[in-house]
Amino acid sequence: ILELCDITRRFGSRNVVDGLSIRLLAGQVTCLLGPSGCGKSTTLRIAAGVDQQTSGRVLINGETVSGDGHHLPPESRGIGLMFQDFALFPHLTVAKNVGFGISRDPNRDVRVRELLGKVGLEDFGDKYPHQLSGGEQQRVALARALAPRPAVMLMDEPFSGLDNRLRDTVRDATLELLKSEGTAVLMVTHEPEEAMRMADQIALMRDGRIVQSGAPYNIYNSPVDRRAAAFFSDIN
Ligand code: ATP
Ligand code: MG
Repeated sequence: ILELCDITRRFGSRNVVDGLSIRLLAGQVTCLLGPSGCGKSTTLRIAAGVDQQTSGRVLINGETVSGDGHHLPPESRGIGLMFQDFALFPHLTVAKNVGFGISRDPNRDVRVRELLGKVGLEDFGDKYPHQLSGGEQQRVALARALAPRPAVMLMDEPFSGLDNRLRDTVRDATLELLKSEGTAVLMVTHEPEEAMRMADQIALMRDGRIVQSGAPYNIYNSPVDRRAAAFFSDIN
């Protein structure tokens, strides 16, 4: 579905991403987990196409979308994006926000209703973003990103603006929706607990490289080294 092959990104003389490869699996959530500054967001931006790697290739469904002299822009990649600043359009209703990317779809209204139902906001279609809580806005942003049925969803710390209580609810709603849509997800987080909770696969990143990858349970129980163990030691 989405593959990053031997990606390097150099800023100045420093390789912020350094020979990184990841392959997403259909319908699965892969969490890119690692400490601040290790290159997670840079990796996601390269996958999205808003930044370009210094070397390596990005493939979607087996086709090179970046590398070998090609560079397909984000809007032509068939991916959904959800970054930390998920900004809704303030002057559009919730329903219009969700339907924004599918305005020519004859089934738009049905799809919008379906998605609002799935995120538990069926009665919010006529409201405006400022009338919603942060968690509600986040769920609208998720519905908007999924409206065009992207095969791949890229998310960068999507729950970081929420307080603890809200975060659990929104995480659960998000996971349920992603599973019901069958979307393959690459989600960036620096919180081991979040990765343990959301991921089918964790790719543990450090200094621009993947140091370990696999099922959450395996990484938690058999960390590759002491630093990986220490990173997971805060959660129980
Ligand atoms: P965080 O968890 O804090 O979000 P991250 O893993 O997402 O961290 P990145 O944003 O990918 O980290 O940044 C990795 C490193 O690359 C950082 O040291 C950052 O300062 C550097 N960096 C990122 N973008 C640029 C840029 N455009 N120019 C120069 N350096 C950059
Ligand atoms: Mg980041």
